[in-house]
Amino acid sequence: MTDHIKTDCLIIGAGPVGLFAVFELGILGLKAEVIDNLDKIGGQCAELYPDKPIYDIPGIPVCTGQDLTDSLAKQIKPFNANIHLNQRVDELKKVGNEWEVKTSAGNKFITPNIFIAGGVGSFEPRRPPIDSILKFENNGIAYSVANKQAYTGKELVIFGGGDSALDWTVELSKIAKHITLVHRREEFKAVEHTVGLMKELVNEKKVTLLTNRQIAEANGKGKITSISIKDNDDNFSEIPCDNVLIFHGLKMELGPINNWGLNLNEKQISVSTEDFQTNLEGIFAIGDISYYPGKLKLILSGFHEATLASQTAFKRARPDENLVFRYTTSSKDIHKKLGV
Ligand SMILES: Cc1cc2nc3c(=O)[nH]c(=O)nc-3n(C[C@H](O)[C@H](O)[C@H](O)COP(=O)(O)OP(=O)(O)OC[C@H]3O[C@@H](n4cnc5c(N)ncnc54)[C@H](O)[C@@H]3O)c2cc1C
Repeated sequence: MTDHIKTDCLIIGAGPVGLFAVFELGILGLKAEVIDNLDKIGGQCAELYPDKPIYDIPGIPVCTGQDLTDSLAKQIKPFNANIHLNQRVDELKKVGNEWEVKTSAGNKFITPNIFIAGGVGSFEPRRPPIDSILKFENNGIAYSVANKQAYTGKELVIFGGGDSALDWTVELSKIAKHITLVHRREEFKAVEHTVGLMKELVNEKKVTLLTNRQIAEANGKGKITSISIKDNDDNFSEIPCDNVLIFHGLKMELGPINNWGLNLNEKQISVSTEDFQTNLEGIFAIGDISYYPGKLKLILSGFHEATLASQTAFKRARPDENLVFRYTTSSKDIHKKLGV
């Protein structure tokens, strides 16, 4: 937890558009801090379609969602932006001409500019609506892996049948004492190769696979000691465990941003097309989350929006300086910032 991080611009969302905004701000000499609720950068590209090919990024005939994320990470490296993962923005307060933002991890930022690049909203895990499960959240039960070493030597139960559940079953089988994988159906939605690896681990008895069963209750006093599951006929059984990981997918929510007093158009934020500023001065919305007549939810539109928003952000962060338009090809000043 840190206190009052001062920055020229706070970017909410480390999707492709939030990442590119770091670049556009950086070549103007502005420092950015980035927050994302996920445990990795790349937004929809990395979370929803890392292996799918994208064909409409100008100058790149084809790249996957993960390729694009990796290239953007490389492109913004010279600017050393801090990326704060696993946290959601919660509170917003006006302090003079600046904004103060608090995150769910207790970080506090002070900035003249906020870029909301939150895409379709913050990705939130689908939680089973069961009180005993919610009680053990972050105390034995988790929806993502923040530190995989925490599972060393542990009796682990993993719920789910998609990529995350199977990827982590395969990965954590290398360090956990034993894993029980529980899935509510017979078929898996993960890539075939990973399903094959998981089945090999079942044959080697490193993983126990239970299908057509789902989570029912978490048991224990203070600390989780077992998890109850039930089959399709409501027959219950109990699995002793130290930890539980639930991968029931993600839902997207605008969350607390909904209450910030921004003009909304359904689930998007209305902006001016001159600089993508919202109705609140110094707060911009770029990428999928912004709305204006003719808006297309495309990565390239978000890149354009980030570029124009950065120009106004400069004027707010450096009111006493002149903003001179320069090409990256020929500006020595930009080359210095890029270290080339
Ligand atoms: C299957 C699929 C294929 C696609 N193919 C293409 C294509 O070929 N070409 C194309 O141009 N586009 C494509 N898209 C759309 C493209 O992925 C989006 O336009 C793009 O990801 C938008 O980028 P973004 O940065 O605005 O938002 P996102 O990628 O959605 O990233 C937003 C980030 O903000 C974070 N966030 C949101 N709210 C908060 C909060 N309150 N606190 C902290 N973090 C928060 C989220 O966790 C997320 O990581 C495709 C989309 C899908 C689903």
